[in-house]
Amino acid sequence: MPHRELGKRAIVIGSGFAGLLSGRVLADYFTEVTIIERDAEPKEPGPRKGVPQGHHIHVLLKAGEKALSDLVPGIVDDLLQKGATNAVLGKDVRWHLAGNWLPPFKNGMTTFFQSRPMLEHVLRSQVSRIDNINIQYGRRSLHYGLDPTGKKVESVTVQDIATGEESEQKADLVLDASGAGTDLLKQLSAFNFPIPRESVVEPDFAYSSGFFEIPENWQDKWKSILIYPKAPEGTRGGAFVPVEGGKWMVTAAGYCGDYPPTEIDGFLGFLKSLPEPDVFNAVSQASLIGDLHSFKFKKAVRRHFEELKHFPKGLLVMGDAVCRANPFFGQGITVAALEAQALQKLLEQKVSKGDPYIDNLAGGFFKEIAKVLDISWGMAVGEDFKYPATKGKRPGSFAITRWFKDKIMSANDPDVANQFYKVMHFVDKPIKLAKPNILYRAFIKR
Ligand SMILES: Cc1cc2nc3c(=O)[nH]c(=O)nc-3n(C[C@H](O)[C@H](O)[C@H](O)COP(=O)(O)OP(=O)(O)OC[C@H]3O[C@@H](n4cnc5c(N)ncnc54)[C@H](O)[C@@H]3O)c2cc1C
Repeated sequence: MPHRELGKRAIVIGSGFAGLLSGRVLADYFTEVTIIERDAEPKEPGPRKGVPQGHHIHVLLKAGEKALSDLVPGIVDDLLQKGATNAVLGKDVRWHLAGNWLPPFKNGMTTFFQSRPMLEHVLRSQVSRIDNINIQYGRRSLHYGLDPTGKKVESVTVQDIATGEESEQKADLVLDASGAGTDLLKQLSAFNFPIPRESVVEPDFAYSSGFFEIPENWQDKWKSILIYPKAPEGTRGGAFVPVEGGKWMVTAAGYCGDYPPTEIDGFLGFLKSLPEPDVFNAVSQASLIGDLHSFKFKKAVRRHFEELKHFPKGLLVMGDAVCRANPFFGQGITVAALEAQALQKLLEQKVSKGDPYIDNLAGGFFKEIAKVLDISWGMAVGEDFKYPATKGKRPGSFAITRWFKDKIMSANDPDVANQFYKVMHFVDKPIKLAKPNILYRAFIKR
């Protein structure tokens, strides 16, 4: 039940990470929260139609794990109970980056590996148990409805996918978490509202992934190995991570149209062609469970809602519907969780100021989430742009930041590697890579 009511009903579109986490937050401030999801209710963890990326490796960054645990206490224990594997960065995880292995280091952060469907399942179970949240499965949001002033969203027209029946559902607040395929921009145009500027970067990238049975006699110091391509000459990467059920999730990835195959011989051949043999050596001893799946990621898109002067009242948008960066850096769930916390902070401020007016949330919310996206987007596209074939507008600072990051990545120093992980996991801001100790180790001592 809400601890302070700011509205009667909030409707969230989509029950991916952004939808479930924002629903969890809104439940503290609205009498009733309805989440509309076009997929059927997933009873067991497994890939589902609405999120085809569920077939691929999903790492959970440390800052995302913390945000999830703050929003949904006990989630990490649940994950461990369901078979997630913990691993200490710098000790159990080996990462080949920019042509070098990051060196091992002491006191690394502990991270958890599980499949995306398992993580979503555990979160969904927790969120579904919240009294005032109701998830309507098998229903699609068709469009939003404006009030007579034409300035505020006051309803969502929802279609029951099985019967085709349509109904209008009223809400004080609507939050679009329908993912990268959102049709929000079309709707804004139809309402005569401005649409956000888009930053578009086209790395023409693809994943092929599958589950593999870990060989019975498998013994290695490393629980997970990740090999990233060295741009621009190398376009291929590959990784395995341990997930629930004693399996590896294995992904091969290729930039610039160098797509990894989805038949096993071609897939193994692709892994064999990586600059280091470690991933191939492991996976070639394991047996594929089921099929390999492909995901083509032609372009990354960031929509700058924070720049808009006019936006419908009573409407918010978050998650991949705002920004979908190259997934190679494992940021999307973490970004969604940090955005949910930004929403929580804003609503809590309303409560503490005794301000019950929620129609003006969008401006402040978009500015808050832009701070998160400036970092995540900057990190991801910085790597994409290393390939001359990547289309998009390179920032003026690209050459210098690239030179700096290449020095950091190739420093072969344990302290630098530890700090680099902390930045990649959003635990520390990128500026920490410019600390005197790190600069000395990366630029002078080497
Ligand atoms: C190949 C790949 C690998 C990735 N790897 C990682 C990783 O390692 N780590 C990480 O953190 N992130 C990763 N991501 C990103 C991550 O999957 C997303 O950022 C994250 O899931 C947040 O997405 P979301 O909730 O905004 O949207 P989605 O997960 O796309 O969820 C949108 C939901 O809305 C529903 N929906 C859509 N339209 C409607 C409608 N009209 N009506 C009702 N329901 C609707 C969909 O069915 C779906 O359930 C990866 C992405 C890809 C593509």
